[in-house]
Amino acid sequence: MRPSAPSESEERSIRPTSLSEFIGNRPFLSNLCIFLEAARARKEALDHTLFYGPPGLGKTTLAHIIAQEMGTRLFPTSGPALQRPADLAGLLTQLETGDVLFIDEIHRLHPAIEEYLYTAMEDHRLDIVIDSGPHAKTLQLRLKPFTLVGATTRLGLLTAPLIARFGISIHVEYYTQAELARIVQRSARILGIEITEEASYAIAQRSRGTPRTANRLLRRVRDFAQVAGHTQIDGALAETALSALQIDPAGLEEIDKKLLLTLVDRFGGGPTGLQTLAVAIGEEPDTLEEVYEPYLIMEGFLERTPRGRKALLRAYTHLGRSGSFAGSATLF
Ligand code: ADP
Repeated sequence: MRPSAPSESEERSIRPTSLSEFIGNRPFLSNLCIFLEAARARKEALDHTLFYGPPGLGKTTLAHIIAQEMGTRLFPTSGPALQRPADLAGLLTQLETGDVLFIDEIHRLHPAIEEYLYTAMEDHRLDIVIDSGPHAKTLQLRLKPFTLVGATTRLGLLTAPLIARFGISIHVEYYTQAELARIVQRSARILGIEITEEASYAIAQRSRGTPRTANRLLRRVRDFAQVAGHTQIDGALAETALSALQIDPAGLEEIDKKLLLTLVDRFGGGPTGLQTLAVAIGEEPDTLEEVYEPYLIMEGFLERTPRGRKALLRAYTHLGRSGSFAGSATLF
């Protein structure tokens, strides 16, 4: 039997649609609430907003919530999808006052498109250059005041002029286990499955601080419950399903383990420079730094030092290399 894939409607149904449904005690939520209320009262578009942070933490969800809370429409696109100025013009000219243009992966925007975006964001104007050389003409399009919501996992790749044009900039961070357990319980309710608190914590513990992972694991555990004929997911069932799925108890994925193993086995636990480590595991340094490392640092597997990355005791014990830690500790 094939495991059930998340249908688009299922995915949509568990996505929070209002700020009150958005789980997690984030300091930015109360501020965002005030910005939205103020913009609504002034009947203006919300200022351009940038969400940055690792994948699966709710950036797209927040973009949808902004449009919902403003009572406007959301037009989604992504950096790589905007190939030509005409693609951008086509989207921008459809927007009514307060509508949200959501650009996911905004760090992958073509530099030429980014230039067009500057005047659109600042002056609600799009200057399109037609033709080139002596026949070049500029076509000026007036735009309605809109809100650009950008999302990125790689803030470091955004140019300073683009960052400066966002009036609101929000760092979306990893979730605690208690928050993830609440997300699992909420999703289970929407999907029509009963789940005990113990089981929701078992899933939360392996979700690497990420709601998307928590929801994915919940679906997989649901498959096990369904096939075993259980109407409720309890702690024992969740544990059995998660170990059958070979989910790492600390939520580490293959790439995380590769990084830690490389650091411990090949570089004696570090400190090892970011570039060297990235080459050794075949990843981009930026991706390592902005996508994989934050979770490992938060969980105490890894440390960033001025001399490079260093594996911590938890990495050694987790990888079953406790013996080598004593050796590495005497070296530094
Ligand atoms: P991102 O855009 O940061 O990659 P998404 O907004 O697509 O992440 O979120 C991934 C999934 O996690 C969504 O489908 C949503 O259901 C869930 N999710 C994210 N944040 C929350 C939250 N705070 N509360 C409940 N569910 C959430």
